[in-house]
Amino acid sequence: MYRYFCVILYTFCVVIDATYGVEVPIFKLLDGRDIPAIALGTWLGNNTQGRVKPEGTEVEEAVKWAIDAGYRHIDTAFVYKVEDQVGRAVNAKLDEGVKREDLFITTKLWNDAHAEDAVVPALRESLRKLNLDYVDLYLIHWPVGQFSNLTYDDTDYVETWRGMVEAKKLGLTKSIGISNFNQKQIDRVIASGLETPSVLQVEINLNLQQPDLLAYCKNKSIVVMGYTPFGSIFPSKARSEAPPPRVEDPALVDIAKKYGKIVPQVVLRYLFELGVIPIPKSLTKLRIEQNLQVFDFQLSQEDHQVLQSYDQGYRTIPQLKWLEHPYYPFKKN
Ligand code: NDP
Repeated sequence: MYRYFCVILYTFCVVIDATYGVEVPIFKLLDGRDIPAIALGTWLGNNTQGRVKPEGTEVEEAVKWAIDAGYRHIDTAFVYKVEDQVGRAVNAKLDEGVKREDLFITTKLWNDAHAEDAVVPALRESLRKLNLDYVDLYLIHWPVGQFSNLTYDDTDYVETWRGMVEAKKLGLTKSIGISNFNQKQIDRVIASGLETPSVLQVEINLNLQQPDLLAYCKNKSIVVMGYTPFGSIFPSKARSEAPPPRVEDPALVDIAKKYGKIVPQVVLRYLFELGVIPIPKSLTKLRIEQNLQVFDFQLSQEDHQVLQSYDQGYRTIPQLKWLEHPYYPFKKN
């Protein structure tokens, strides 16, 4: 197993020099392009009142700190309502001399634009908010369509994929991919003969390691981005029924101490060693910087065994509101 991780690391990673000191490895996409092996997340999440509303420049500041620290990959989405902030930060850094071709910007098509001919206009709207000519990666956010009045839209996601291919042909995005699709759904997209998705973005963390899906994607040369990489390790975010570990778990703390690291860095490193691009979100400068310091150590086989043992198949984002949708992607319990 350990040999398998090392093979992934050395086969798919090339270390490149980042202008700002930290060396961020890259993965190769099926379409030949490079994708940086860690991305800053920009979703503000939910609180007890529902979605946290963006309130000013918090994401803009975070993206600027991230680029200064050496991040080259930013993950956003239309539905996060922060594309304008991401765009202001990116453009500010371009003005300071960062090259556009050295940045990798990912955004996502929301569920209310699943009709084939709705995809290009939706991406144009995202580009307008981002104030960019193109994004590097455009993802179908979910396989489930939903009209703006919240009723289900049963449009086949293969039709949506046709729209994605068109968006790429027009040069509005360099690469295209999917998010929250299951294996059968990906098989259907591939079977359409249009274009194999370059990337699958799904939830991956200690409690939800998805080894079968990762093996499937490796077999198809689809790069996996792992969202909610910290899962339930922070008590402030963990639901009461969420399985262990938490960040103070003695076994995790011991692993971290061994490498002079902190537990969140061990978690991100583990995902990277699984061949996954983690997408840690933070609005805190120090944490943004800490989360990038994960490419200068390597976990041992014993550490892998400990970390692997936390996989409970537990999902933090089951999106039960779409449970009855014909394209709901996750196992129904
Ligand atoms: P994360 O697992 O990234 O956790 C974010 C939380 O962890 C925040 O509360 C943050 O706090 C805290 N945190 C970050 N780093 C540290 C650290 N070093 N020490 C202590 N606390 C830390 O959760 P997300 O759910 O936000 O997922 C990450 C990203 O993945 C999203 O932002 C989004 O871009 C993407 N995503 C995609 C989805 C999809 O459907 N495709 C679904 C969900 C997420 P603070 O900000 O206060 O520092």
